[in-house]
Amino acid sequence: MQPIVKKFDNNIYQIDVLMEGKEGRLACYYIDSKDPILIEVGPSKSFPYLVSALESLGIQNITRSAITHLHLDHVGGIGHVVSKYKNHFVHVHELGVKHLPNPERLWNAVAEIYTDEWLTNNWGKIKPTPIENIKTLNDGHEFNLDKNRKLKSLYSPGHAKHHYTFYDSESGTIFMGDTLGLIYPHGDFIQPNLPPPDFNKDILFQSLEKIYSLDLKQIAIAHFGLHLNPYELIDNAYKSINEWIMFINNLPNTSNDEAAELLKNWVVNNYESLNVDSETIQNYISNSHFLMQVAGIRNYLSSN
Ligand SMILES: [Zn+2]
Repeated sequence: MQPIVKKFDNNIYQIDVLMEGKEGRLACYYIDSKDPILIEVGPSKSFPYLVSALESLGIQNITRSAITHLHLDHVGGIGHVVSKYKNHFVHVHELGVKHLPNPERLWNAVAEIYTDEWLTNNWGKIKPTPIENIKTLNDGHEFNLDKNRKLKSLYSPGHAKHHYTFYDSESGTIFMGDTLGLIYPHGDFIQPNLPPPDFNKDILFQSLEKIYSLDLKQIAIAHFGLHLNPYELIDNAYKSINEWIMFINNLPNTSNDEAAELLKNWVVNNYESLNVDSETIQNYISNSHFLMQVAGIRNYLSSN
């Protein structure tokens, strides 16, 4: 399989790193400029695809990356990136300084949900990142891309407390990570992504409001792709997240497993009633972890 690279206006490249061996699961972005930057690197298993995608663009070395958050589907491959590329610095939330050199905690937190075996087979083992290759992001930090072009870091918690988004005012693009949720190919709606332990609706909505107030032309999300209707999608996210929380709140006497099954069936019924085709529904459902969503929503509800 070959990674799929798509070029958009303003020298923005979308790189499909074939996460879990599938297309359309995780996008990294590369902004070509005087001082280029890579946004997200994907999991360890995607690293060879990332390298061959960059090589297909004639890129032999890349000296910086910005990571939206410390979940392993976004950052898992960073140890390989810093060891392959000379003088590479990864820019990430300050918790990265603590966890990337000793990634066991990050690994164990995900393994609790996905199991060791699944993680090893699908995302791959994590290589530690030397502390000297890590730089801490700050809210409002601006990366210089070209003389008059900057990429601004915005602290955007809610999905995870270590989440940043990145705003390129020249192209009107916000690189969203998982702040918004999931949009899979053919779908033009948001499916919420609300994992424990950090999901908090109030904090997430504050982050979305901050993003909504920007001058946006497009949204680039990790799962998956570039979309030209940013405000509509953010409105859609508010609505879906509220509906999911209400649905789970109305199931007080069910186990998490039962609630996950009910949530999944309800989501499928909703998609069917919107006349979403069965292939797209299958794509959303098979790439979703409903038990994790239930755990995240219940954790939020119990803290309120
Ligand atoms: Zn993700």
